[in-house]
This record gives sequence, C-alpha cells and structure tokens, in this order.
Amino acid sequence: MPVLVMKFGGTSVATLDRIRRAAKRVGVEVAKGYDVIVIVSAMSGETNKLVGYVDETSPLYDAREYDAVVSSGENVTAGLMALTLQEMDVPARSWQGWQVPLMTNSAHASARIEEIPTDNINAKFGEGMKVAVVAGFQGISPEGRITTLGRGGSDTTAVAFAAAFDAERCDIYTDVDGVYTTDPRVCEKARKLDRISFEEMLELASLGAKVLQTRSVELAMRYKVKLRVLSSFEEQSDEAGTLVCDEEEIMESNVVAGVAYSRDEAKMTLVSVADRPGIAAAIFGPLAEAGVNVDMIVQNISEDGRTDMTFSCPTTEVARAEKAMNDLKENGELNFAEIITDADVAKVSVVGIGMRSAAGVAAKMFKVLSDDGVNIQVITTSEIKISVLVARKYMELAVQALHDAFELDKA
Ligand code: ADP
Ligand code: ASP
Ligand code: MG
Repeated sequence: MPVLVMKFGGTSVATLDRIRRAAKRVGVEVAKGYDVIVIVSAMSGETNKLVGYVDETSPLYDAREYDAVVSSGENVTAGLMALTLQEMDVPARSWQGWQVPLMTNSAHASARIEEIPTDNINAKFGEGMKVAVVAGFQGISPEGRITTLGRGGSDTTAVAFAAAFDAERCDIYTDVDGVYTTDPRVCEKARKLDRISFEEMLELASLGAKVLQTRSVELAMRYKVKLRVLSSFEEQSDEAGTLVCDEEEIMESNVVAGVAYSRDEAKMTLVSVADRPGIAAAIFGPLAEAGVNVDMIVQNISEDGRTDMTFSCPTTEVARAEKAMNDLKENGELNFAEIITDADVAKVSVVGIGMRSAAGVAAKMFKVLSDDGVNIQVITTSEIKISVLVARKYMELAVQALHDAFELDKA
C-alpha cells in the first residue's frame, strides 16, 4: 500500500471536536487506499504550559527532565487520536517516540533524528492496521532517555517519517491554508503561495516564519519529500495548500518571495573591548560554550585601540550571555567597560532566490524603512536574504511596508 504522512499541529487538535475533524480527514485518505502515518502535536497551549512548569520549578533545569516533561503533551493527543479513529472503525494504534523507536542524538531540547526503523510499524500495517498515530516532537537518545526536537519539532517528525517510509506525500495540516508571502496575522495583504522553493522556505523558516520548523524543510530538501502545507479547517482537494518543491518546478517568481520576522531578539553591546587579533574568538567562543545562539555581529570602528562589539541573540538567552561575559571579566580573561542590553528589538528579513541576480534590493529595503522613520540598528545579508534589526515597536510596520514596497500581494 502507498504510505501517506499527515501531521496535525496544536490548533488542529486543540479540542476533542477538532481531533474528530482531523480523524475524519484521515479516514478519507484511508478510504483512498493509503496506509497512513499520522503525526500529532500536543493540544494547543499544552507545550507552553509544560515549559512554564519546568521554568518555575527549576530555572537552570536539567534538559533531560525538561524533555521528560514537555514531551508528554504529544502522548495525550496520540492516544486520543487513535481512540477517535477506532470509534470510526478505522484500525489504528498510537506510538510514542521510544516505541518506534525514533532514535535521536543526546542534544536534549533540540535533538536531531538519527534513525527511524520501519519494521515495527510496517509489521502492524501488514496485520491490517491502517493508521499509525505517532506522537510528534519526541524521540529517544542512545542513553535511553526521552528527547525532544526543539519547538515546532512535530513538523520535523513528520518529514522524517515521510522520508523513512518513502511516503507519497507529507501533508502538514495547520491553522492557515498554506505558506504566505508573510505571516497573514501581521499583514492582511499577505498572499498565499501555490508553490515555494525549498531554499526560500528554509530561509523564511530560519528567519522566524514558524509555519514549518527549519529542520523539517532541510530534511524534505535532502530526501526529496513531497511536502505540502494546508489547512485542517477547510475541505481539501488534492491541489490545496502550498507545495514546497524544487526551484525548477516553479515557473516564474518575484525577486523577493517573502518577508519574515523574529520578535524575540535582543541586542547586546560590549563597550570598549581591546581591538586586537583574537578578540572575537575570546568573546564568541565562551558564548557558544554557554549555549548562546549568536546571530548578527558587528564590530564598531576602533578608537585608541578600543572598540565596541555588538551582537544579537534570542531574548531567552540574554541572562546566560551576560553571565558568560561577566565571568570572563571577573577571571581577567576579557576587559570591557560595560554591557548594554536592548531586549526590545526584532529582526525583519526579506527573502528571495531572485536576489541572486537582481541588484538594488538592499537599497530599496533601506529606503522603504527610512521613509517610514524606522531606524536600522544592524544589517546582515546573504545571497538570498537581507535582515535588519529594528526596535520591536516598528516590527509590524516594517513587515507591512516591505510587503507593499516589493508588491508581494501581486503574483
Ligand atoms: P501548528 O501548531 O499547526 O504547528 P504553528 O503555529 O507552528 O502551527 O504555525 C502556523 C503559524 O505560522 C500561522 O498561524 C501563522 O501565524 C504563522 N506564520 C508565520 N509566517 C507565516 C507564513 N509566511 N505563512 C503562513 N503562516 C505563517
Ligand atoms: N508541541 C511542540 C511545540 O509546541 C511541538 C510542535 O507542536 O511541533 O513546540
Ligand atoms: Mg508548528
């Protein structure tokens, strides 16, 4: 039997009613003759609640126990989905990550999938089971501990299963009806795309568009998974939603494909560090060791052999970054006057493979922002994206202004 992977996100399984609705969609595919692997997220809000419990119990928590707690939301939905399918006379059973077993490395809270053996589930398909409901987001480490794949990780579970089982398609059911030119909740003119290239989706995801987890796009690209994003709230045809595919499968595209934003960024400046070879390594080595994901970096001009070093990181990592820097200062390994932290910034980015060959996108972006009085604090570019750091209060304005200026509402 051909295999289909269907993933339902948190809002799509938020209530028993919605689980029934999702189960009906699964029933439709079973009736077409597919063996279906359903990947479920925790019910909407559950994972946040569990993360809150952990933070309150232990601020500098043991990541193995964090995973033990936050993985549990998916277990509930997997069981409920299997029961709902059984009530509809569809032969189904639930699988937790360790039962598959979905093997990961030991990087708790952001583990990478290493292997998904197919024999257990295939044996059950052979015995007449039609649907394997798998708890998303979770796996098991070589040490036998439960791991999780990072926030939004059920998308990655879904794509990895599609690759392992050579599925005909991986359908990601969510609360929007596809991938848009930008987040439709921030810009009402956002336009749904019928297709988007893996490269552009990868950039948009890594720059904050949470409709797909970055790692899921990477895996789909590597294993040539036919990946589709669609709404669990509407009746669907085979053509619905957005197909994430190779660049070559897209006839014509705009220079800029989309705008992404990341709200929870912080900007930190180390004032007056020595301007000497090795200073960047002396700062960013220890930050990496402390688990701080540094994104943008700027070294300001130097005066009298001293310079300021500015970098950005997620707001959740500011405390760890400050501690790492202050420890270095106390140990005499790094000398600086002070740390200035601005935890009220956001990153706004434009993305498009057309930028490889079109000049002037950056200039236009900067002009649009200045016309709206938005001050740009830090800039980074790559071949197919330009990102700027701006005060958070300007984030939505910047997204909308860029969406207008690059005419993303027009195909
Ligand atoms: P799920 O719970 O189904 O995994 P998520 O909340 O993780 O859903 O992702 C869907 C959300 O992603 C949408 O509700 C939307 O607000 C947001 N989003 C951000 N950027 C985009 C985009 N470019 N296209 C579509 N949705 C986007
Ligand atoms: N429940 C997890 C989260 O909220 C994983 C997911 O939904 O993809 O991050
Ligand atoms: Mg998600």
